[in-house]
Amino acid sequence: MNIGFIGLGNMGAPMALNLLNAGHQLTVFDLSAAALATLVDAGATPAASPAAIAKGNPDMIVTMLPAAAHVKSVYLASEGLLNHVRPGVVLLDCSTIDPLTAREVAKAAASHGNPMLDAPVSGGTGGATAGTLTFMVGGTPSDFEHARPVLEAMGKNIVHCGAVGNGQVAKIANNMLLGISMAGVSEAMALGVALGMDASVLAGVINTSSGRCWSSEVYNPFPGVVATAPAARGYSGGFGSDLMLKDLGLATEAARQIGQPVLLGGLAQQLYQSFSTQGNGAMDFSAIINTYRRKASL
Ligand code: NAD
Repeated sequence: MNIGFIGLGNMGAPMALNLLNAGHQLTVFDLSAAALATLVDAGATPAASPAAIAKGNPDMIVTMLPAAAHVKSVYLASEGLLNHVRPGVVLLDCSTIDPLTAREVAKAAASHGNPMLDAPVSGGTGGATAGTLTFMVGGTPSDFEHARPVLEAMGKNIVHCGAVGNGQVAKIANNMLLGISMAGVSEAMALGVALGMDASVLAGVINTSSGRCWSSEVYNPFPGVVATAPAARGYSGGFGSDLMLKDLGLATEAARQIGQPVLLGGLAQQLYQSFSTQGNGAMDFSAIINTYRRKASL
């Protein structure tokens, strides 16, 4: 398949490389010349703008951009995709943005005759490199089936979540819960250790009891409990606190727009906001436990 790919950052570059490795022809664009060069070295054809990608007559276009403003610009600007793409070409946006913007851009695409799917991912840069991402996809069943082979070249779990925008709904609901559960596990682990308990013994009890969750079992924030967790390597790598903060902001903003209460989500957002303001935005999000730990026990 001839695929146009826009947004070759930490996630987009390895995803695009996996499409090349699967035998697809890629035309690529990024504002960063260095990001573009990496893909061109691997065999992709460079393009000078989103319009140039669209005019190259691709079978499908994939975008992986930082936030809603970038998605709007790449799709809706006068030199953006929609003004130049042939009707019928399927558009696949893998960026994490709010569901309402995803639906707004998809509506504009539909009025140009282009089916659009939102397909945000989980799995981080490790999953993007290994081709094991989870894709949460919103769109019609037939568009979903059309995009499935392309998604399967980049991911392992491909989930159809319903109509367009629902991929973003699934993503932000899950990540809001993750932020809340990580704060909860941090609070419980810090309390138990401050009261004199060994962290690994406490985690063992939680993980065979009703407090068990992914944040306690797979990704425990207390150093030394899980050898493969970012806590074991100074909270480097993993999923950055600023990315968690972004997703919590998307969840609380989407909730505000429809008048839905997200009390713990709002609290988690403030926790991560404070953590980020103190200069910790690049640390893995499980480092939030440091806001609970006593200096002597660090
Ligand atoms: P990134 O900042 O590393 O990459 C974004 C790329 O988009 C950059 O190369 C940038 O130059 C390019 N770009 C920005 N505006 C552009 C434009 N107008 N035209 C062309 N290129 C443009 O971001 P990332 O970490 O790759 O994340 C991408 C998306 O994936 C985000 O929405 C993020 O929330 C989501 N996500 C990231 C992770 C992660 O672990 N990094 C995990 C899951 C989801």
